[in-house]
Amino acid sequence: MADKQAINVVSVDVEDYFHAETFSAVVDRANWESYSSRVEMNTRRLLDLFASLNVHATFFVLGWVAERYPALVREIAASGHELACHSYWHRLIYKLDREEFRKDTQRAKDTIEQIAGQPIYGYRAPTYSVIDSSVWALDILSELGFTYDSSIFPIHHDRYGMPGAPRSPFRFRTASGFMTEFPITTFRVAGHNLPVGGGGYLRLLPRLYTRLGLRSVRREGLPSVIYIHPWEVDAEQPRLPGGLSSRLRHYTNLSRTFARFKSVLQEGKYTSFRESGLADTAKDFDFYAWTGHKNG
Ligand SMILES: [Zn+2]
Repeated sequence: MADKQAINVVSVDVEDYFHAETFSAVVDRANWESYSSRVEMNTRRLLDLFASLNVHATFFVLGWVAERYPALVREIAASGHELACHSYWHRLIYKLDREEFRKDTQRAKDTIEQIAGQPIYGYRAPTYSVIDSSVWALDILSELGFTYDSSIFPIHHDRYGMPGAPRSPFRFRTASGFMTEFPITTFRVAGHNLPVGGGGYLRLLPRLYTRLGLRSVRREGLPSVIYIHPWEVDAEQPRLPGGLSSRLRHYTNLSRTFARFKSVLQEGKYTSFRESGLADTAKDFDFYAWTGHKNG
């Protein structure tokens, strides 16, 4: 029973199937309008699931989606969930310069806030693209009024990852204030961090892996931060061309993900970042010194 009381966070990265980084080589963002959108329907499916389980979540909304589906944004907020930001154009931060990042983020934040009529405080980078070479983005987030970020994945991966970063929430000083980081959940096996409970890892790896991984995190006394994309519960989505590895990454087990995600939520206590109170438990950590980053 004690396990059940530990607070964990569930988050949704609100984007459409054609926004996924894995298809960025075959899908030009200038043509996004030409794809048939499924994000409203799929997000509503998740909203219904959360309502049935009495769970609040944090929704990191893509600015491009918010602008086209304002009713969806208002519905998320009206259902008691927390709104947050997932950039405007879903570009990898480490491929942007500071001004491009600032403009993209400001545009997304303004769009979501104007629609919802409330401020937002949280950010999640597209494809977890806060890495060693893009740590400067955290200064800009702080400057723009964000108080937390959940973009750091402490693993080795071909597109993202900061394998040595802390695995539990931490607070650090930026050039303009303080920022809390909520790393994506990992568990430890033989001296390595393994990803668990979110997105492709929930979809592609055996159910038992997820269960044991999350149990291990709970035993360590750490909160879990899990995530899902609306397209991951949509087995009927149009198939896009792409390399074999892209297709495997995106399409495997789509029909099973909804049930898996539901059972994860039933096995622990999950809520939004806002309601979790976890920011108050974050340990101070001199993150910039650790990354070798110099302000400015
Ligand atoms: Zn995304």
